Amino acid sequence: MSEWTSLLAVFWVLWLLDGARWEHRRAFTFLVGASGRLVRAGFSRARLPSTWPGQWWVTADDLPLAVSPFGLCNRSVGAVGRPSERGWVAQGWRWEEVREVGRAGGWIFINGVRFCPDSGHVTAPQILAWAQLTPEAREARIRLQMSRWFQIGELRRRARVLAGRTQIPALLNAIALCGGLVITIYVVGGGAAYVPTGASERWAKALPAILGLLLVVHLAAIGSAWRAVQQLSPVRPEKRRATLLSALLLPPQAWRLRGLVGDGYFPVQHPLAFFLAFGGASARGRAGFNVLADLRWPIEVASDSPVARKVTGWFRAALAEKVSALLAAQGVGVEELFAAPCPDSPASCLFCPRCRDQFVARVSACPHGVPLAVLSADRK
Ligand SMILES: [Zn+2]
Repeated sequence: MSEWTSLLAVFWVLWLLDGARWEHRRAFTFLVGASGRLVRAGFSRARLPSTWPGQWWVTADDLPLAVSPFGLCNRSVGAVGRPSERGWVAQGWRWEEVREVGRAGGWIFINGVRFCPDSGHVTAPQILAWAQLTPEAREARIRLQMSRWFQIGELRRRARVLAGRTQIPALLNAIALCGGLVITIYVVGGGAAYVPTGASERWAKALPAILGLLLVVHLAAIGSAWRAVQQLSPVRPEKRRATLLSALLLPPQAWRLRGLVGDGYFPVQHPLAFFLAFGGASARGRAGFNVLADLRWPIEVASDSPVARKVTGWFRAALAEKVSALLAAQGVGVEELFAAPCPDSPASCLFCPRCRDQFVARVSACPHGVPLAVLSADRK
């Protein structure tokens, strides 16, 4: 029995590790259920996929750069993730200085200098093409690109298509997962001791047939997922066919087929778009608050160049306009989000409008340098 136990342990470890990654920067991983509702949104360096086969996942970076008609800068603006990464001095380029744009190792390089992560929000050829335009034409392109980061309806439509086209692999995965759990509990828990002698012998005899059935379920799941991959054209780089072939040989990799088929199927978006498309009221409100708070009270780095400051200033205003209109259209009440909080102690008299921390002493700014606001007396 101990060999069976170690075999099962290896199987479950492989299953747990499948699809999990550790990246050099934080990003959002959204876990979405079959009905298109957000199950969990994590912001970390770890990318953890779903455990239940009915769910799928997608990752989204905060914007790694700011663009404007006169230049671009590698400062993230309008971030949803907290803490947002700051503290280093931003690079700012005027468009007329941009001669060469390349990408390597997940980064975009401008004139041979590492500029920002290649998140897909703006591509290297796009940056080069924008550099050739007049400021007016460039502004139009930038505003068009900004609209492409918030395709709420398109995300919902794609979620419906993905769930519909992967019904069979997800169902087969669920059956296999439940079967695997029952077998594990039986083997590890010493199930043979609790059933009558005859029954446990019959089980031992039936084992080859059960394993054969699991193999058929496995092959059918891979086959139906392969069909779904053919039907759903990707819009981002993906490795679905290679992963499916590897899963064919290594069954622990084949129990998240809905997520696997969804690889590369969702366009590059601002993380707020995923919250608005799939999140409940509180998740939508929190994400909207974070973006607007980052735009209204950015954490300034005093040593940023004048070009970087001018670029982020323009971009912040343009993004604030876009996001405010979007939140209003989606029924998220912005002013309620920014209402002063209730004091958490009778001595609290000030609060930071960005991180919502409360202060008792007469200080003018929070540790991040954001000017504090007064907690209104009528809320005390
Ligand atoms: Zn603060």
